Amino acid sequence: MRRITVMLTTALCCARLGFAQETGATPTGTATARTVVVQAQSLIDGVSTEPRHNQAIEIRGNRIVDVYPLGSRSPPDGAQVIDLGSYTVLPGLIDSHTHIFLQGEDPAAGGYDVQLLKFPLAFRTARATVSARRALEQGFTTIRDVETEGAGFGDVGIKQAINGGYIPGPRMFVVTLSISSTGGYSLVGYAPEITVPKGSQLIDGPVEARKAAREQLDKGADWIKVYMTYRSWLDEQGALVSQPTLTVEELKAIVDEAHGWRRKVACHAYNGIGLQRALDGGCDSIEHGLEISDAQIAQMIRQGTWYVPTLTVYYYDWDAPDTDSGKKDRKRVALHEISFKKALRAGVKIAFGTDVGGFAWSEPIAQEFSREVEFGMTPMQAIQSATVRAAELLGKRGELGVVAPGAYADLIAVAGDPLKDVGILKDVQFVMKDGAVFKSAQGAPHTP
Ligand SMILES: [Zn+2]
Repeated sequence: MRRITVMLTTALCCARLGFAQETGATPTGTATARTVVVQAQSLIDGVSTEPRHNQAIEIRGNRIVDVYPLGSRSPPDGAQVIDLGSYTVLPGLIDSHTHIFLQGEDPAAGGYDVQLLKFPLAFRTARATVSARRALEQGFTTIRDVETEGAGFGDVGIKQAINGGYIPGPRMFVVTLSISSTGGYSLVGYAPEITVPKGSQLIDGPVEARKAAREQLDKGADWIKVYMTYRSWLDEQGALVSQPTLTVEELKAIVDEAHGWRRKVACHAYNGIGLQRALDGGCDSIEHGLEISDAQIAQMIRQGTWYVPTLTVYYYDWDAPDTDSGKKDRKRVALHEISFKKALRAGVKIAFGTDVGGFAWSEPIAQEFSREVEFGMTPMQAIQSATVRAAELLGKRGELGVVAPGAYADLIAVAGDPLKDVGILKDVQFVMKDGAVFKSAQGAPHTP
């Protein structure tokens, strides 16, 4: 059996660019209709409850055209055969909550604020291209990137550059600026006389809310992201309190506008009043949801609201345990675990999201799988949260997050069985996006 070894991504990056230039890859990734057959001894197809064994995945251009038992027919004439040996093949993974314009800022080095106050947009954009490549290297072939944090419509441009084949990166669903209220997403701690840049488009009233949604949709937003809570702290009883931002009326105007465009609304909401307004206003996905009450979980089930918990990010950068902020750091993860377990038990639709960018892109994105399993998901449920479920959230069921005829040819492979240890998803050995190999074995792909 031939083992595959990973080539350095720098060289592969150039190879990918060469491919794009040669084939003139388009926004839908349409390449010349060459045929590739990927052979897999073990295939987790994103939908089936059990792995399938000894399968051939036939790809034409950027789509999967057939999946059949290995050896049941010969590869088509002229097809390129990629034998992935004993590796486990899965659909390209989906991270439903990323920030390519953030870099896991070290508080000691200026934290979040320095991004908005000191860094030129070109510098932030250059770094965002590295973030996008990091996602793809780690096997995340699709991301929903939930706001640029002061970098304007930069995500629209990065998506365009990826789709045009100029830089490597995942498929992107972008939200541009996001929307919050006055006092609901500002840099804090500056002299009140000074106007500082904002991390979000701040609005007041349903008219401004709808106008902001229209502007963002007009300029390329695939989703709208809103902040329903902003500051948070512990009260005198030690309970987590979050400042609510948009009113129900403001949110309803945004949701109504977005739904008219057949787009959806993602709501950042920690808990309490803001989370309740998010549900009452018709949000499509609750982001973070640190503390969700039983009644709110029931409402999510009733309304079909998604939950994108982003467990991982809250384990970074804890302050000392005897400080107010350190107590809050610990309280947040304790509540989050309870909410995740309750939501899972109740059958809330959960999609994989990490908030990477909130932590550094050099960290493994796939660590979220281990947290999901630690809090009660089976490894298969965890994998499906980043494949079929996330695809459903994005309205792309059948096209993303699945290895089946008609789907985009986005595949990854890992050495070993992720159903025994989801941790191996941190070490993706093979990545194909749109039928083009981005990261692969030395010597492969192999043409007989
Ligand atoms: Zn986020």
